[in-house]
Amino acid sequence: MPELPEVETIARQLRRRLVGRRVGAVSVRRADLLPQRPSAFRKAVVGRRILGVGRRGKRLVCELSGASRLVVSLGMTGTLLWQDDPSGPAPPHVGVTFLLEPQGRLHYADPRRFGRLLVLDPLGWKTLDGSLGPEPLDRRLSFRRFYGALSRSRAAVWAWLLDQRHLAGVGNIYANEALYRAGIHPLRPAASLSPREATGLLGALRGVLREAIRAGGSTLRDYRTPRGEPGRFVPLLRVYGRQGLPCALCSTPVLRGVRSGRSYFFCPRCQPS
Ligand SMILES: [Zn+2]
Repeated sequence: MPELPEVETIARQLRRRLVGRRVGAVSVRRADLLPQRPSAFRKAVVGRRILGVGRRGKRLVCELSGASRLVVSLGMTGTLLWQDDPSGPAPPHVGVTFLLEPQGRLHYADPRRFGRLLVLDPLGWKTLDGSLGPEPLDRRLSFRRFYGALSRSRAAVWAWLLDQRHLAGVGNIYANEALYRAGIHPLRPAASLSPREATGLLGALRGVLREAIRAGGSTLRDYRTPRGEPGRFVPLLRVYGRQGLPCALCSTPVLRGVRSGRSYFFCPRCQPS
């Protein structure tokens, strides 16, 4: 599932292409991608100008004229693909296409269709925004706030990082990588971290997220940028998906554990429990 670095990459690539364009028409082939009725979705989007393209957590957010927002959750297999030339063939699994003016098409393709496209008015946006924790790369997220929230939790630190109410945008890949870099076992209680460990964790998390953004994200299976390219971060992963392979620091085989149906990865020597 695309996480913060993947969605950030998509937002940056689309921004230059979309901002300033107007939505001329919307073609909906898969209505199940829209929680709203297609007619209401069309009415809310057609004729609007795209004023900005950004991200909140793992969602892509397009600011539209009229103070509404188009919010895209990519689910497991969703991609947003930019098409300059309207005479070219549409990519496979297209569910929704935005025909833009003066030219260009934005396709939302999703073979498994767990993704969603939603238009929110200012109040709806405020509610969604308020339900999410701070952005990990936001400088306004202080160490004090981060450590305070960890120390009040009863969850394991790995589960804490994945909870979008605590931090927005961190998923399983980057939670595992950050814990490895910080030398913290995933199942340590969040509240057991010392201030020094929490500082290390926040720094490791920010570091891995920034590096992944620079690499255009991680493609494990389906994720592609709007240009159709895979991300380049997977060779840089140190524990995620690497069970049985040697730890880069100490050569001990990386272990995989499962809790609540999700896998975590760690080096038993570098990340003692
Ligand atoms: Zn190790």
